[in-house]
Amino acid sequence: MSDYYEVLGVPRDASSEQIKKAYRKLAMKYHPDVADDPASAETFKQIGEAYAVLSDSSKRQMYDLGGDPLRSGGGGGAGGMGGFGFPGGAGGFDVGGLFDAMFGAQGQRGPRSRVRKGQDALVRLSLSLAEAAFGVTKPVRVETAVVCPSCSGRGAADGGEPVTCSTCHGQGDVQSVQHSFLGDIRTVQPCPTCRGYGTVIPNPCGECSGEGRVRSTRTINVKIPAGVSTGNRVHLDSQGEVGPGGGPAGDLYVELAVSQHPVFRRDGDNLEMVAKLPMTAAALGTEVWIDTIDAEVEGADAADARVKLEVPHGTQSGTRLVLDGRGVPRLRGAGRGDLGVTLLVQTPTSLDEHQRELLRQLATARDENRPEATVDRGPKGFFSRLKDAFDG
Ligand SMILES: [Zn+2]
Ligand SMILES: [Zn+2]
Repeated sequence: MSDYYEVLGVPRDASSEQIKKAYRKLAMKYHPDVADDPASAETFKQIGEAYAVLSDSSKRQMYDLGGDPLRSGGGGGAGGMGGFGFPGGAGGFDVGGLFDAMFGAQGQRGPRSRVRKGQDALVRLSLSLAEAAFGVTKPVRVETAVVCPSCSGRGAADGGEPVTCSTCHGQGDVQSVQHSFLGDIRTVQPCPTCRGYGTVIPNPCGECSGEGRVRSTRTINVKIPAGVSTGNRVHLDSQGEVGPGGGPAGDLYVELAVSQHPVFRRDGDNLEMVAKLPMTAAALGTEVWIDTIDAEVEGADAADARVKLEVPHGTQSGTRLVLDGRGVPRLRGAGRGDLGVTLLVQTPTSLDEHQRELLRQLATARDENRPEATVDRGPKGFFSRLKDAFDG
């Protein structure tokens, strides 16, 4: 019996990640489908056994204590067999999908298909606020496994076909009988020569090493619906990873992130902005034009995107006025949110002598030459209104 740590070339305190990595590397190198040397099948089998033990914490512990969970009598008699993983027991092996059914349950026997469904893939896409609000179609670069163009997913070079495995005669698994004082123990495991497929590819495709798939980058146009926000995902059927053996692709998810906007802050379907207004205009009342987010839609009419905002006389700093239906279109259902405009009244900072005199006269007329400070109270005071407008 060879030392499992030596077989995998890892130190005795290797992490499970190290063990997995070493196994993957060796398994690829010695896999009978790719290695020419006939001795590699035996090496491959040893690698599989070493990994089966070291990747399972309870079996690894047993092995470290001097037992061998793969061989009868190991681990100190019956006690050692507790971790054996008999069919129906809880201790089944999980060795990264290659030896799915080392001590397989009844249903797992027989050759398994080379062709399996691929995994889902995830890409991230950044959007401007206007793109998220009104929807957009954007090109997205996606890197996934695709069907190998050389062998069309079959894994064999030059149009060859897989042939029946001579080790297991196409069964996909092999039986072994171990004699112990408890009686014969019959175990079934995937055939080490063909990895349980029942067939081998004598001349694997050079481009995909017999995997039937290769990695590739492509650009696809993704349609983003109106009203999305950060964290939303767009689901694209069958655009994910192609499976082993050129199996059907998983799905692709495009996760969206919406950038901050210099003017507008989003609050659900509403947008919030802050606009400055001269003190005199706030006192007398006026109307101002506001450029809405609509101006940022490609091909938008700038005039249509401007909206008149009526500012009543006597408007206080921090007042929030609402432009109906100028927020973000709702993702589900009709209509749009609103645009809230919080006004900041600007006190003039540079006055000439004439202007100063006018203000003095105004102050005298309003009996405000020596005003008393009045305290702002309550939850909807100026500061909380201002905070509402700026937060985000
Ligand atoms: Zn076989
Ligand atoms: Zn190929």
